[in-house]
Amino acid sequence: MKIIVAGAGHGGLVAGALLSKNGHDVTVIEKSDDVKDLGYEWEDRFDFDLLAETIGVSTDDFPTGAWQYRGDSVFVSPSKNTFVKIKFSDENRQKIMWRKPLIAMLVDFAEKSGVKFVFGKTIVAPLLAGPRVVGVETEEEKFFCDLVVDAAGVFSPVRTNLPEELLIERSPKRGDLFYVYRAYFDKKEDVRPEEPFEVYLYHEKEQGLSWLYTDEKTVDILIGRIDPIDDKKVAFETERFRKSHPWTGENIVCGGKYGYIPVRRPLPLMIADGYAAVGDAAFTTTPMNGMGIDLAIRGGRLLAETVNAHGDASVRTLWEYNKAFLIQYAGDAGKNAGLKSALLAMPPEGVDFLFDEGVIQSSDLAGGGKNTDFAALMKKFVHGMKKPKYFFAVLKGLINGAKATKLYKKPPKAYDLILLHRWQRRIADLDIRIR
Ligand SMILES: Cc1cc2nc3c(=O)[nH]c(=O)nc-3n(C[C@H](O)[C@H](O)[C@H](O)COP(=O)(O)OP(=O)(O)OC[C@H]3O[C@@H](n4cnc5c(N)ncnc54)[C@H](O)[C@@H]3O)c2cc1C
Repeated sequence: MKIIVAGAGHGGLVAGALLSKNGHDVTVIEKSDDVKDLGYEWEDRFDFDLLAETIGVSTDDFPTGAWQYRGDSVFVSPSKNTFVKIKFSDENRQKIMWRKPLIAMLVDFAEKSGVKFVFGKTIVAPLLAGPRVVGVETEEEKFFCDLVVDAAGVFSPVRTNLPEELLIERSPKRGDLFYVYRAYFDKKEDVRPEEPFEVYLYHEKEQGLSWLYTDEKTVDILIGRIDPIDDKKVAFETERFRKSHPWTGENIVCGGKYGYIPVRRPLPLMIADGYAAVGDAAFTTTPMNGMGIDLAIRGGRLLAETVNAHGDASVRTLWEYNKAFLIQYAGDAGKNAGLKSALLAMPPEGVDFLFDEGVIQSSDLAGGGKNTDFAALMKKFVHGMKKPKYFFAVLKGLINGAKATKLYKKPPKAYDLILLHRWQRRIADLDIRIR
């Protein structure tokens, strides 16, 4: 089969490599001009073992200097009155890696597996023959194929231009994304806080999250909001951080870029005839912490395994990939999305209350979801009932999330547009509106 991967996203590179290894003719079409332009100049947390296993190397082979252990964390409540610290042991300490070497490893794996790359071409839309996706169109030419693997990220021009009748959600709603800015600044003084990674929820009482990580030589600042941010806003928030953290310098050492992070439930329907989305194009992140690299890699693997096993890109085969992904991975994200939306939908004083009273703890906020089951919540009930409206708002988020999880784990058996429409409606009805 002829396969086009739209965008050099993580899941697309993995799917492309595994499909190519199985004899398919795979081409990645990427808008960046060169491989060195891919990714960002910042570090990310993801599962190192998963990456190593996927590309067939040992973690010992990861380039030296490309990764490090991250220091301990502290979560700060909106009023900045409560600080919840997380101390990591040597065994569970988080690892972070620069994004560019990570992407370089995936590109190398894809190239060695026979994938071809076309750089410097911006895809503008899918090509369609009735309901079937038959290729992609760039600004200059048309590329026809049997399968388009959509790895072009949050605002993929393929997904957003699919016909409505295919029932794939095309555009994110308010609250589905964090608009983020991230930069590493130089350090004016050699300050080493005990918990160098500070995460601010509802930072400055605005819907979103910011962080400040004081590393050995730099201060990594991320500002994230559910509404778009601009240079003026970034300068204002960075200055505020500089006042509270006077060791933060003025000079940007690296990063200094904007991006988007999906913080919503994944697409229930992420395929059509000849089309499959992976990674951010299918919104497959963990909503509470925005981690999407692992799920993009897992999605890419699952897609390739399914297509390789069936040998075609029919809607029936791709629906098997879609179902398997939801059953294996999307359920937990559905639950996590319920909690995230409940928190974003309440005023900052509500989050303060839950935080101050220990109703929501660091493990919930870090996306572990360990304290979000009903039994654990009951233990927090006594504290939570001091302000029932906030307690019940969180409970509603968790219950709606749990119901969405159930629906994700029981998708219609066959690709039937009437059944899919009803099933998706039921999932969407559980969303909590964020004003
Ligand atoms: C500041 C920030 C911090 C993050 N931190 C983490 C973290 O610590 N851990 C984690 O797991 N995740 C993190 N994420 C999320 C993570 O980046 C994504 O979830 C993950 O990269 C999966 O996205 P993707 O590969 O599907 O898409 P992307 O990374 O968005 O890649 C899409 C690719 O498609 C290309 N493309 C886009 N449009 C077109 C077009 N029209 N034509 C051709 N090519 C196109 C792009 O150039 C890009 O190469 C972070 C995100 C941001 C913004």
